[in-house]
Amino acid sequence: MAQRQPLIAGNWKLNGSRQSVVDLATAVSAGCGQLSCEVLVCPTSVHISDVLGVLGNTALHLGAQNCAEATSGAFTGEVSATMLAEYGCEYVILGHSERRAMYHESSDIVAAKCKAVQEAGLTPILCVGETLEEREAGQVESVIAEQLDAVLNGAGVQAFENMVVAYEPVWAIGTGKTASPEQAQDVHAMIRARIASHDNATAQALRILYGGSVKPDNAATLFSQVDIDGGLIGGAALDAESFLAICEAAG
Ligand code: PEP
Repeated sequence: MAQRQPLIAGNWKLNGSRQSVVDLATAVSAGCGQLSCEVLVCPTSVHISDVLGVLGNTALHLGAQNCAEATSGAFTGEVSATMLAEYGCEYVILGHSERRAMYHESSDIVAAKCKAVQEAGLTPILCVGETLEEREAGQVESVIAEQLDAVLNGAGVQAFENMVVAYEPVWAIGTGKTASPEQAQDVHAMIRARIASHDNATAQALRILYGGSVKPDNAATLFSQVDIDGGLIGGAALDAESFLAICEAAG
């Protein structure tokens, strides 16, 4: 069985000022050095260089929340993966449900972004997850299969060798409703099995994060599930103490 180092990723969304992101990154970096999990923060694109300035030799990693499919050209308002790489980013969150819902990103667009991120030498954090309506209609497996298959069919299972998947049930994001550890484990196992049907070694090495109202008081039971390899954290990542408590729950 592959040893998977847990990853705790903070998605700061559209929050912060230059000063507050420096303060938050400084506090997180000071507290994460002794942990065995990998700790990542993803500020807005405009704050990336400020956060890069406080990383130094700390154990904290830096990522972005989105990027363009294209490397350069006439794409007003976009930021490319190669630009993010120049600013010290190692990961890019892609296909977050907020981007799928509010910015109409299809699974094919998300797959194209994954390719661009990997070509820039970075690691995509591919978000998948169902809405409440889809869960109630018994469509969890088919929805997530469609989101994974856009990458599998286009780039092959090799794309998952340098990838993190985040299972984020849409109904649990920012709502205070968390999937039960059993509900989350079931979907994580399903994701791993789908990748394993293409290549078992890739599936066993793949880190699959859970996201959706993870807090210090529910993190440990979620992370104790066999196929949950850490978390993608929204609201609780904006408070250093809460975020570090979640990191500690992951080891
Ligand atoms: C997220 O936005 O990815 C997320 C999981 O948010 P929250 O932790 O606030 O539910």
